[in-house]
Amino acid sequence: MTPSPRLPRPNHRFPGLIALLALIALLPMPHAGAAQTPAAGEPLQVVASFSVLGDLVKDVGGDAVQVTTLIGPGVDAHTYDPAPRDLVVLEGAEVIFENGLGFEPWLDQFFESAQPPGARVVVTDGITPRAVENQDNAEGAGEAQEHGGVDPHVWHDVANAIVMVENIRDALVSADPANAALYEANAAATIARFQTLDAWIRQQVATLPEDRRKLVTSHDTFGYFADAYGFQILGTALGSLSTEAGDPSARAIGLLVEEIMTAGVPAIFAENVANPDLMAAIAEEAGVALAPTLYTDALGPPGSPGETYEGMMRSNVSTIIDALKG
Ligand SMILES: [Zn+2]
Repeated sequence: MTPSPRLPRPNHRFPGLIALLALIALLPMPHAGAAQTPAAGEPLQVVASFSVLGDLVKDVGGDAVQVTTLIGPGVDAHTYDPAPRDLVVLEGAEVIFENGLGFEPWLDQFFESAQPPGARVVVTDGITPRAVENQDNAEGAGEAQEHGGVDPHVWHDVANAIVMVENIRDALVSADPANAALYEANAAATIARFQTLDAWIRQQVATLPEDRRKLVTSHDTFGYFADAYGFQILGTALGSLSTEAGDPSARAIGLLVEEIMTAGVPAIFAENVANPDLMAAIAEEAGVALAPTLYTDALGPPGSPGETYEGMMRSNVSTIIDALKG
């Protein structure tokens, strides 16, 4: 491969990013090429790209890290465009955690242009990604390509969250060896808790007759959940891995309504990162209930049942089982 100059590629998706990076290059930064190890007693400065990941990093890092989450509770990661403040935080971070699998395309652009000093950690390394299927509308297919043809929503399978925790642990130990024992103990406790969570989900799902394990949601976020816990995805309103897909055609909605009625499911589901109006309209058309909102690509706000990863999983499973029991 011929080396090419590291020029920023033209970017139509994040038009403000290059300008922001140029601006940030002028700001005084504390790193100056120094080794990125925290001063004694100071927490390690880390960034997590989105809220679900931020919660896992806090579980493993405990008091030894200060976690800044860029895409907060209830915010849709698919439509995120970084703000100047976010880029400053990224420049100052000692470790930057991302989901990967095409979930944060803006980060590629950032790393290419800014070459920040912090370690870049893709927490889904080691997880076998689901290949994309049924991307039958044009915009959905375009989005799938942007995702590298794989499904990024790995966290809905608790086994994958455990791999994420292991990757977070290894990255923190490597960045801050002085606190290795703490990170290892926290990770072990988190993994044990998640194993209990996974068993609980399986017990709950077992109470639902097999022919009722059918999901209809806003976008294709539950593929890993369905594979892990034995559900069928009947269809999604947007028919896409991304909430960025355009509004579905009347024909697509008609087909989905028909599918819902044929399958005889008693309820369909809205998501906390997508406008519920479309799902409400589809539910009404199909004559089924719109279940309480699921937490999908983001945690819920503080104080809500979905304010942590474990809380979001428990809340989702309870909501799904209650709604589909009918
Ligand atoms: Zn999504």
